[in-house]
Amino acid sequence: MTNYNQGMDKAEILRSLAERMADNKDLPLQESNFVFGEGSPDSEVVFVGEAPGFYEDREKRPFVGRAGQLLRKLIKELGWKEEDVYITNIVKRRPPDNRDPLPEEIEAYKPYLAEQIRIISPKVVVPLGRFSMNYFLPEAKISRDQGVLFRVQGRLVYPLYHPAAALRSTKVLEALQTSFRKLPVILEGKNLVRSTETTKQNTTEPPQSKLF
Ligand code: URA
Repeated sequence: MTNYNQGMDKAEILRSLAERMADNKDLPLQESNFVFGEGSPDSEVVFVGEAPGFYEDREKRPFVGRAGQLLRKLIKELGWKEEDVYITNIVKRRPPDNRDPLPEEIEAYKPYLAEQIRIISPKVVVPLGRFSMNYFLPEAKISRDQGVLFRVQGRLVYPLYHPAAALRSTKVLEALQTSFRKLPVILEGKNLVRSTETTKQNTTEPPQSKLF
C-alpha cells in the first residue's frame, strides 16, 4: 500500500494514483486508452463496472455509452447529480472487441481498484454486473444476490445488475430499477439490520485479504 504525504486531499491522492497507473506499462491492454474513473472523491457511493467499452475508450471516461447513459439516468432519478457520485471500472483499459476482461487482466488491475476505493472510502460500493460483483463477493450469483446488501471487510457492498444487461431484458431493467431506488435508504443506514440478517451466510470474510 502506498503512503501518501499528509496534507494531500483525496483528489490529489487519486490523481497521484491515476498517474502511477497510467505510467505502469506492465498493466495489460496498453493499446487502449486509460480510463481511471470520475466523480466526487468524497462520494458516499462508488459504482464499479467491468471495463471501458468503445465510447469510454474514445472519451477516456467511464460509462458514457448506452449502458452508461442508463446508469447516469438512474442516478439522476434518485435526485442525485452524477458528479456527486464516483464511477469507475475494475479494469481501466478497454479489452479489444468488447470481449470480457480475462482473469489475468482483472488480477493485474485489482490492487489499484482496492487503493482507489480506500482513498475515496465510500459508505457503499455498488458493483455493476457479475465480474465486478465477484471481485468483492467471489461466491455470489448475480440473479440471486443483486439488490442484496453485503458487508465485506467492514464496507457495505450492494451488487446490482449491469446496465448493459438491463438494456437487453425488460425483466432485468425492472430489477435494476427496483434495487437502484433503495440506494438512498441504504445510505441512511435504515435497513442495515435487515440486510445483515439477509446476508448472514455471506458476512464472513471472503478469501481475498485486501479488497479495499
Ligand atoms: N461497461 C462497463 O462495465 N464499464 C463502462 O465503463 C462501460 C460499459
